Order: sequence, then structure tokens, then C-alpha cells
Amino acid sequence: MVKNYPDSWYAASASLGEVAPSLEAIEDADICVIGGGFTGLSAALTLAEAGRQVVLLEAARVGWGASGRNGGQLIRGFVGQDRVAKHWGASRAKDVQDLTWAGHDLIRRRIDEYDIDCDLTPGWLEVAPTPRQLAMLYHSYNEMETTFPDRGFHMMGARELADTMGSDKYQGGLLSLSDGHLHPLKLCLGLYEACLRKGVRVFEYSPVTRIEEGTVATVHTDKGRVKANHVVLAANAHHALYPMKLGGLAFPAGSFLIATEPLPDDQLNRLNPNRYAICDTKKVCDYFRMSADGRVLFGGRVNFSGRKPKSIRDKLMPRLLAIWPELEDVKVTHEWGGKLGVSLGEVPLVGRVGDNVWYSFGYTGHGVNMGNLMGEILGEAITGHMGRFELFAGVPKRRLPIGRWLGTQAVSSAIFYYWLKDRL
Ligand SMILES: Cc1cc2nc3c(=O)[nH]c(=O)nc-3n(C[C@H](O)[C@H](O)[C@H](O)COP(=O)(O)OP(=O)(O)OC[C@H]3O[C@@H](n4cnc5c(N)ncnc54)[C@H](O)[C@@H]3O)c2cc1C
Repeated sequence: MVKNYPDSWYAASASLGEVAPSLEAIEDADICVIGGGFTGLSAALTLAEAGRQVVLLEAARVGWGASGRNGGQLIRGFVGQDRVAKHWGASRAKDVQDLTWAGHDLIRRRIDEYDIDCDLTPGWLEVAPTPRQLAMLYHSYNEMETTFPDRGFHMMGARELADTMGSDKYQGGLLSLSDGHLHPLKLCLGLYEACLRKGVRVFEYSPVTRIEEGTVATVHTDKGRVKANHVVLAANAHHALYPMKLGGLAFPAGSFLIATEPLPDDQLNRLNPNRYAICDTKKVCDYFRMSADGRVLFGGRVNFSGRKPKSIRDKLMPRLLAIWPELEDVKVTHEWGGKLGVSLGEVPLVGRVGDNVWYSFGYTGHGVNMGNLMGEILGEAITGHMGRFELFAGVPKRRLPIGRWLGTQAVSSAIFYYWLKDRL
């Protein structure tokens, strides 16, 4: 089945370009990358920049998966001293903490170097719907100010926040000027162009059916093969290539978005004059922002199963109106959804199958930063710089010892649990 881009505002507003050929021959490469999202594109680009011969195979189109559909919120990684210390121990916690902004820095460097126009806009506002979550936000602010005093954090009480976002729904907010938002599909396509410029051979509509491991691995599609010294598995939680070794580590959870028609400037300036990305502090959060052409992009959970509802608009619009009631008559022009890989241990799942099949997935809603960073980390590991790879590969992985169907039920139950907890 031909899987084109979903009917998203992103696909409608990006230059999608010609479809790349599909693999119909035998190719030789140093590295074969499977998956054309942030992880795969970033790994391919890192490797091509290091002079390696790279083939990238994508089952659909580049940016077809979560990377081309997400909320576009560019959120820092690896924060929370407790969480970092829990997984890495005090001795390595600092090394991990130092990577908090590395994904952002990488994205900015590539935007500059490869002249990628993806509407990058500074400012991310976390907003607290309950007093308990406001207290957690103050805790987070104190931690951020201590650890990163120059990163532009600012804590807002309810009144300042209401002026900043044209709504008094929230108790307070934490602004970070070092985070922000962007057009994720344009970033994917820009990275794709950069890969082509560096000589990466990209094949679309080329789903990998099997990997034959060996010193030289053979990656099979229906009509072709790639022989490579290394394989990068960057297929998110969609893939089913290693059910025994990688199954049960992460599960696909559904998240959905709507885009409205463009709003007039005076309304935009009343609702979000600084055009910050906004996300509430709930585990199962609502996230929203204005697009470069003045639409509201609003996303979140629509049910506990993660399955696409009949109308995404009908599910999300009441939540948007609870924040900005004046948008009652605004038209919704696009609605779409996607699957994000939820890892059981809240840490990206990074490692190797055998000696030369490398993987990274399970960013649990933080993959704009982490997908780009982890792709770079896989690429540099393959060129012999193992330090940052080992930092993540060494974290013990938790697995549900049950089948995929039960795993999906477990994710639904977990989402329900967090939904209840978020209400406190
Ligand atoms: C609706 C939604 C909103 C989100 N919002 C945010 C956000 O605001 N901020 C944030 O940081 N993160 C967000 N995320 C998470 C983020 O998008 C992901 O973590 C990240 O994009 C994952 O990147 P990836 O490259 O690992 O996977 P993907 O982008 O999913 O790419 C994997 C690719 O592999 C391909 N593939 C799969 N199987 C095969 C195969 N057998 N052969 C060849 N190719 C294959 C797929 O077609 C796909 O294109 C969101 C996710 C979703 C779904």
C-alpha cells in the first residue's frame, strides 16, 4: 500500500518535492540507515559528513512518521536531577546533564549550515493547570536557574501569564527562551536535502523486510538489497524487525493535532503576542502554538486507546476553547495524528543488536531534540567515538514480558492512570 503524507498542515505547507526512487537493485554501502525521520536523517548526515558511503531506506516518504507530524515543540532533553541521577548515578549525571541542549545546538547548527528554512521561533512556555503542578513548576524553575543560569528562564505568576497568553486558565508558567518551536516536516526535508548534498543515496517506498546479520549485513526490501558494514535502525516504534530483541521496550502511543485557519494579526497579538510554544505540565499534555502563517496548531490525547477518532476536531476543539473561548467560530482546516514511541524507563532506548546493527528510539514525546541528537550519537559511534553512545546504551532497559497487544493495553492503562493523576 502506498503511504503518502497524512493530511496535515505541515504537508500542505512544505515543498514536498519529487519522490525518491525505490530500491530495486543491490547497493553496497558503509552504512545502511533504516527510517527517514529525525533519527535516521541525522545519523545519515553525521556519517556522510564524516566521509562514509550511506544508503537510507524509508518505507514511505522522508518525514512520513512522527518527525513530520509532531507538535514542533523544540524541548530540551535530560532534565530533572532526580531522574538523571536515578538512571545514570551521580558520577555520570553531569555528563548527561551537559547534553540537555546538545540537540538544540545541533539543529541550529544544521539550520545555519544547510540553510534550512523551518520557521524556528524562540520561546517555550510550560503552564500549570493545578496548584500541585504549579509547585512542581517552581521546583523545576529553581533547578533550571541553578543549573543553567544563562538560558533565559523566567517564572510567571497567574496574572503575568494571563497577559502573556490571553487566558486565565492556568496557575502560572515557566518560560524558557532557549527552547522554542519549528515546522518539523520542513526540518526533515531540509535534512534530507543536506543528506543528498553530502552524497547519501535515499530510497523511498522501500520498506525493509529483513536484516541478515553478519560482518557485512544484508538489508532486504521486496525488490532489492543493501550490503553494508553497519546498519542503523531508526524506524521508531513502528518497526517489527527485531520482535524478540527489541519488542516490549517501547510502544506506539497515539497523539493528534488540529490546525485552524489563519487568525488576524490583532487576534494573534492578543492571544500569543510573543508566539511562544505552550505546553501544559500534565504527563498527558495539551500542546499548542501559532504557526508562521498565523494558525493555531493544537495537539494532545484524544482517547485512551490511541486510535484515530472519527473527528479529531470534535475531541480537541473543546479543550482549545477552554483556553481561548473567543475562537469558537474559527474553522479547523486540517487534522491528523501520529504514533510516538513511549519507552518504559523514560530514557531513549539506545543500543546494538550484535556488533553492527545500531538502534535508537523511544523518545516519549521529546524526539525533536532527542531524535536529532541520538542520530548524531549513533553516527559518531559508528565512526569510533563511543563515549556518548555508551552513556545511553549502558542504561538498563525495562521490558514488558508480554505480547504487543497486551503492551498496547498497558499503554492505554498508563495513559488513563496519568490522566487521573494530572487532575490532582
Ligand atoms: C502527534 C505527535 C506529536 C509530537 N509532538 C512532539 C513535540 O512537540 N516535540 C517533540 O520533541 N516530540 C514530539 N513528538 C515525538 C517525536 O515526533 C518523535 O519522538 C520523533 O519524531 C521520532 O523520530 P524517529 O526518527 O525516531 O521516528 P519517525 O519520525 O517515526 O521515523 C521513523 C521512520 O521509519 C520508517 N520505517 C518504519 N519501519 C520501516 C521499515 N521496515 N523500513 C524502512 N523504513 C521504516 C517510517 O516510515 C518512518 O518514516 C510527537 C510525536 C507525535 C506522533
